Amino acid sequence: MKTIGLLGGMSWESTELYYRLINEETKRILGGLHSAPIAMVSVDFHEIERLQAQEDWDAAARLLAENARQIESAGADLLLICTNTMHKVADQVADAIAIPLLHIADATALHAKESGASTVGLLGTRFTMEQQFYKARLETNGLTVLVPNEDDRAFVNHSIYEELCLGQLKPESRQEFLRIIDDLHARGAEAVVEGCTEIGLLVGQKHTDVPLFDTTRIHASRAVTEALK
Ligand code: GLU
Repeated sequence: MKTIGLLGGMSWESTELYYRLINEETKRILGGLHSAPIAMVSVDFHEIERLQAQEDWDAAARLLAENARQIESAGADLLLICTNTMHKVADQVADAIAIPLLHIADATALHAKESGASTVGLLGTRFTMEQQFYKARLETNGLTVLVPNEDDRAFVNHSIYEELCLGQLKPESRQEFLRIIDDLHARGAEAVVEGCTEIGLLVGQKHTDVPLFDTTRIHASRAVTEALK
């Protein structure tokens, strides 16, 4: 099995889940005491969030590229950036290394196609919902993408940074997410992409009949598939 590189810490609340999901999937497939060879660097999210808020994407790209090189030097055969938002600088990170980058939006689009969905709702940070780097990647892969209205986008973004990335899972926020998911469904979304790696910690498939595409689970599972090729 190849060594999976994880660029994590954005936030660590979801990186912890990547680590568990990748090992559980590896054990499910290979059995016994098998676990996944992993090389991980986990950054200080305080610094990343500061660069995001300033929209200093060049500095963020340099920082993540440096960390990606460390992961490659540690023996990784492929790299995952364990967040949707920082795929804003995925091209710069990919250019800094010789190993392949497994793009979270490509993995998600492939999953959507396999599930038969062509129109999806998208929840994530304001960067992910409002800028082109993520939506356009899904659209290039053949999907139509709907995002919540302005007030609901503000709620989702606030909840990600002020609650989910701090490990706070509030029932009243889950209800609000479920209302927004229902709204996207009513507008024509056949499924909703949880395009932030912490949303699945709060809202899972057991909470709604609307199909959810949890990008953390999709990305982690695709990594194992690729590592076993
Ligand atoms: N983990 C989140 C995401 O998937 C948000 C944290 C970040 O801004 O990187 O977008």
